[in-house]
Amino acid sequence: MPSMEQEATRTSNRHINNDNNIDSDIISWFEKVSENAGSVQTETLRHILELNHGVEYLQKWLGNFNVQEMDSCELESLFTSLVPIISHADLESYIQRIVDGEIGPILTQQPITSLSLSSGTTEGRQKYVPFTQQTAETTRQILTLSAAYRSRVYPIRKGGRILEFLYSSKQFKTKGGLLAGSISTHYLASEEFKIKQEKTKSFTCSPVEVISGGDYKQATYCHLLLGLFFSDQVEFIASPFAYTLVQAFSAFEELWKDICHDIKEGTLNQRIELPKMRKAVLDIISPKPCLASKLETACQKLQNLDWFGLIPKLWPNAKYVCTIMTGSMQPYFKKLKHYAKGLPLVNGDYGASESWIGANLDPTSPPENVKFAVIPTFSYFEFIPIYREKEDCSSVIDDFKEDKPIPLSHVNDGQEYELVLTTFTGLYRYRLGDVVEVAGFHNGTPKLKFKGRRNLVLTVHIDKTTEHDLQLAVDRGAQLLNKAQAELVDFTSHADLEKQPGHYTIYWEIKGEVEEKVIEECCRVMDASFVDPVYVFSRKTNSIGPLELCILESGTFNKILDHFIGNGASFNQFKAPKCTNNHVILNILNSRIIRRFYSNAYA
Ligand code: AMP
Repeated sequence: MPSMEQEATRTSNRHINNDNNIDSDIISWFEKVSENAGSVQTETLRHILELNHGVEYLQKWLGNFNVQEMDSCELESLFTSLVPIISHADLESYIQRIVDGEIGPILTQQPITSLSLSSGTTEGRQKYVPFTQQTAETTRQILTLSAAYRSRVYPIRKGGRILEFLYSSKQFKTKGGLLAGSISTHYLASEEFKIKQEKTKSFTCSPVEVISGGDYKQATYCHLLLGLFFSDQVEFIASPFAYTLVQAFSAFEELWKDICHDIKEGTLNQRIELPKMRKAVLDIISPKPCLASKLETACQKLQNLDWFGLIPKLWPNAKYVCTIMTGSMQPYFKKLKHYAKGLPLVNGDYGASESWIGANLDPTSPPENVKFAVIPTFSYFEFIPIYREKEDCSSVIDDFKEDKPIPLSHVNDGQEYELVLTTFTGLYRYRLGDVVEVAGFHNGTPKLKFKGRRNLVLTVHIDKTTEHDLQLAVDRGAQLLNKAQAELVDFTSHADLEKQPGHYTIYWEIKGEVEEKVIEECCRVMDASFVDPVYVFSRKTNSIGPLELCILESGTFNKILDHFIGNGASFNQFKAPKCTNNHVILNILNSRIIRRFYSNAYA
């Protein structure tokens, strides 16, 4: 008998196979599963448990239960009452055995042959999670689904191109011979990536040799070069996360003369050293002197405008830019808006290496309001209600108080939750660490607003500053910087407990010359912007010291990026940590401080 997930996948494959109706068919498939999201979830869980019945981990908690004979609702309540909620650390010993090559049904019945490295930069270290064919299929499904909703609003020409800044990181074999790499790397190497391009008849400007070259600087040059070579055909511009786009266009500000020269002559700059990448690009390009001179004139003008409107000027047929601008990508939104001028910015979807979660079905929604409709066939989702201030909750962890987890069908509009996943890839009741807010429903499935990482807080003692609070404070400081014609390139923070009293340190890399008194004021304004009442009280009583603002040498955040890439992170998934205790990162930061300021906000 076909499993439910196979049935769901087959149904959507059948739909997707019909070229003419890809968009409407995947939309009607989703309308149907979202209509009955609660029961689809119960069946999804049943299916995960049927597929993985008898694996060591489940047997430990459930014993020898008979899945076939149990009613689906009974199975759901048995599962949620007996299997504990865990975090990645609880699974590490199991995953390590898989990494080391132990064969056998540890977490899944199907042997796991690939592992994804979650970027994990918010926690300062990377984690392994299983990657299977289901991960590749759901990646294709969600990308096709949200593209179908986008096409309704911004129709694109079939056969057009996408300027997609895609990068595979290095894949390597673990001690036990498993293939490890980022989820995007595995997906880009999979058949599903090819199928998606063929079925949607939209191809990336760059060939696979550029995407999988393994050197992000060389790949960026080629993406830009080919994007401009095909500029008239580019229908939209995309990358998984906004950071990558901002990096690419900032690089363009320095590279444009070389790129224009290559377009004029049909050559490839010597900085591209990888032989396969060189050959693949040279096979595509040919001299286009008229295009080159048009681009040169446009770039000269753009340079005088601080590259405002770079994207629509250079890609006149592009309908929109699609990338994730929420959560830790918020700091790059403003710069992207600057490059995009009035061109619509459409937020990407929501997912993690562990599982895809929800799709953005409303492409016109501004990134700050974007909501992701949960796809109930992808995983079994549970929601831990969390409260910033509430008595009588079942337990208290970090800055939040929490209640017992509830299923998707029980969530309430307006409530904040931490997400818990049970996946086809062998994660059972696994805390993802993300905080979301339910913001309405699409049929019967909740739409989620991404609120931030749960564990990302600055704290000296019992004060708690969340990622969101930190972002608001930094935004206020950066506004003053902008008034002085300078720009915040990137930031991070650290709770310094070594000096007494402990205090928050914010690290800024800035572009442009700014007078000391402006930065002093930025520091004061940020300190006064932290809203946590304990912080405010502690500052007044000096049990938390003045905010320290450290200005960094230019290029410091690129050094941090290089450090993570060197450790196997993917440029596509990189998220600069907005708060860090990681010693290597702190060493990079502290050795590049050029000026220090202390707030006098509570003097
Ligand atoms: P990774 O496993 O390295 O791909 O990182 C996954 C994490 O990225 C998620 O758990 C979220 O914290 C963050 N993330 C993914 N998609 C989004 C999104 N659309 N908006 C905000 N944050 C996101």
